[in-house]
Amino acid sequence: MKNSAAKFVLSGMLTCLLAPGLARAQMDSRNFGAPVQAAPIDPRIQAAVQQISPQRIEQDISTLVSFHNRSTLSSNDKDLPAGQGVLAAADWIEAQFRADSAACGGCLEVKRDTFVQAPGSRIAQPTALNNIYAVLRGSDPAQAGRMYLVTGHYDSRDSSNEDTHGAAPGANDDASGVAVSLESARVLSKLHFPATLVFAAVAGEEQGLYGSAHLAKFAKEQGWDLEGVLNNDIVGGNTTPGDTLQNKNVVRVFSEGIPANASEQQLRMIRMLGGESDSPSRELARAIADVDATYFKTSRAGRRPFHPVLVFRLDRYLRGEIIIPSTCRAFRRCDSRNGARTSTINTRMCGWKMACSMAICSSMSILAMSRVSPG
Ligand SMILES: [Zn+2]
Repeated sequence: MKNSAAKFVLSGMLTCLLAPGLARAQMDSRNFGAPVQAAPIDPRIQAAVQQISPQRIEQDISTLVSFHNRSTLSSNDKDLPAGQGVLAAADWIEAQFRADSAACGGCLEVKRDTFVQAPGSRIAQPTALNNIYAVLRGSDPAQAGRMYLVTGHYDSRDSSNEDTHGAAPGANDDASGVAVSLESARVLSKLHFPATLVFAAVAGEEQGLYGSAHLAKFAKEQGWDLEGVLNNDIVGGNTTPGDTLQNKNVVRVFSEGIPANASEQQLRMIRMLGGESDSPSRELARAIADVDATYFKTSRAGRRPFHPVLVFRLDRYLRGEIIIPSTCRAFRRCDSRNGARTSTINTRMCGWKMACSMAICSSMSILAMSRVSPG
């Protein structure tokens, strides 16, 4: 299971990035109405997928849990034991990205964006936040401006927003998503891609999506041409005892239908053509499913391996206000410059932590890479 999930994660990213022309071939008008054929396996993608380490993902999650409580509000605390709190977690995440960069000859630009969030929802006093991210620049000058972002939030909280000392392990919410960013950076930094990949871990999600909103604002200011945002939140899955609805072989991939930033003219066109399911976000979700078909085949015994389930909603039913990741909401705002180009995918796992994390990671990577591939 772990190996399968890991392969799934990497294969997705690599397929996208390294397999130019495959998607185009499948879109040949002569094939309309015919069953979509799985793309052939790319040995580069397959090799990268093999490098995904379930053990490393588990270690990353365990380390994040060891910070005891990663409440964003703990950055104002003066009495925390050494090695606890959100700042200790930020330091560790930054160190991981820097180690990855050192291993690839400085290929990653590691950034720590520190800013002070003014009081607002669930933040009573000015609070310093840290977004940590690593940029893998595209190797093709003509395409390096195209960007894909993989992100998760590293802050956690317990049932009391103000409690910065009680246990708030947040293994699934969202150490699992951060582990996806870390593992993706570790593996993909060993490769070269024509376009640019960004691996991020943001703070302030539990208080109101502050970290992602800030990153989106920054991206807009910097003119990032984001073609896809892969947001992983709770990809470690629900492990509540007695919950009978868990499925360890499934990752839910949520995608937006009508782009929030669609113009009136675009909305008229969508209505006229019945294009409610043709959005960039939906296409990105389908690309994930295509990659899954290539690298995670059903066994001879008929057992289906780890796979994505496409959910054509922005987020869980009636849960958007709480669950919609800040990257999604924020990047829809910041993307107005590019019309409806940016695709935001939200992933949530139904399964068990390691397999889920790895699967999500791979699917995101696969998607990103296919979209970033030349051509
Ligand atoms: Zn979360």
